[in-house]
Amino acid sequence: MRTGTEVPFLDLRRRIEALGPEVQRQVERVAASGRLILGDLGREIEDRFARYCGVDHGVGVGSGTDALWLALLAAGVEPGDEVITVSNTCVPTIAAILQAGATPVMVDVDPTTMTMDPEAAEAAITDRTRCLLPVHLYGQAADVVALARIADAHGVLLIEDCAQAHGAEIDGRRVGSFGTAGCFSFYPSKNLGAFGDGGMVVTDDAELAERVRLLRFYGYGERNRAITRGFNSRLDEVQAGVLLAALPHLDAWTGRRRALAARYHDRLAALEGLMLPAEAAGRTHVYHLYVVRSERRDELRRRLTGRGVQTLVHYPVPVHLQEGYADACTIADHGLAVTEELAGRILSLPLYPELRDDEIEAVIEAVSDAVDPC
Ligand SMILES: *Cc1c(COP(=O)(O)O)cnc(C)c1O
Repeated sequence: MRTGTEVPFLDLRRRIEALGPEVQRQVERVAASGRLILGDLGREIEDRFARYCGVDHGVGVGSGTDALWLALLAAGVEPGDEVITVSNTCVPTIAAILQAGATPVMVDVDPTTMTMDPEAAEAAITDRTRCLLPVHLYGQAADVVALARIADAHGVLLIEDCAQAHGAEIDGRRVGSFGTAGCFSFYPSKNLGAFGDGGMVVTDDAELAERVRLLRFYGYGERNRAITRGFNSRLDEVQAGVLLAALPHLDAWTGRRRALAARYHDRLAALEGLMLPAEAAGRTHVYHLYVVRSERRDELRRRLTGRGVQTLVHYPVPVHLQEGYADACTIADHGLAVTEELAGRILSLPLYPELRDDEIEAVIEAVSDAVDPC
């Protein structure tokens, strides 16, 4: 039986349309400047977004993957170094570590927050470990307070994958400001998205920021003078303009995400056999994704599809089990039992700022009926 309301997992057209006039104004600024790459708008979004994160420097790059890769290189990670990370993430986290020539070492996640388990990370440190790279997954901050303490105690770097957690906080401090560097993606579906690819490295370390600037632009220290080897990974002016139009809305969008999550929580908490996302004390979850858990996930998903509610799984196959990556990953001694169990249970329900009240109601009804069908 259909309710009549089809609920898409994400409809970006709503955001694109709402931002239209502001984006147009920014694109006119770009046109008037005559500079399409590495101009004033790029510098402006770097400054504004760095300040938003509570750090001194931002360097725009071509994508979130590139932000991770170039931050690792700029921080001095070298071929043969081990980078401790998680397998409960999407592939680009690992792709970036491999691109830097390092070996990803996967540790398990905390079963409640589904992010890096600090004890597991500490236990996996060897004399080849150079960096801890936790992921602030689904919009929830990983325990980077504990991880920063561990990194300091062992003399290793901490680089945060913030691609899903723009504005997420721990005790009022934003992610991206806890580590040596924070790496953001502006892929269109992220909490702060461009109209194409984009990313940024944020840091308090002026020298690290300068090295990312060199690496993203062939190694050019000044015009036609390459003082190091580099690459091409830049945030172009049009994308910077879209981000300048979007950034003033980010806190309101996060507020709407949190209100929708609260509504799911109120209405779904009593259902048996369904586990809802938990907010760790002191951490502000920005709900990039609303991920529930069920032992009968596939059946639940089929029923929701039958009711017109589109869901997704983030991510059905952990990276260490992906055919293209398995042989490049080292698994820490204690194994990845939590990660592997989660992969069979997690389900993402539709949640984005433009999701309408009638749509979330349709999801709540469909989930309630599907979990408890009598
Ligand atoms: C999206 C994402 C990335 C990669 O960002 P791109 O801009 O797509 O390269 C990295 N890590 C995580 C956790 C992500 O969600």
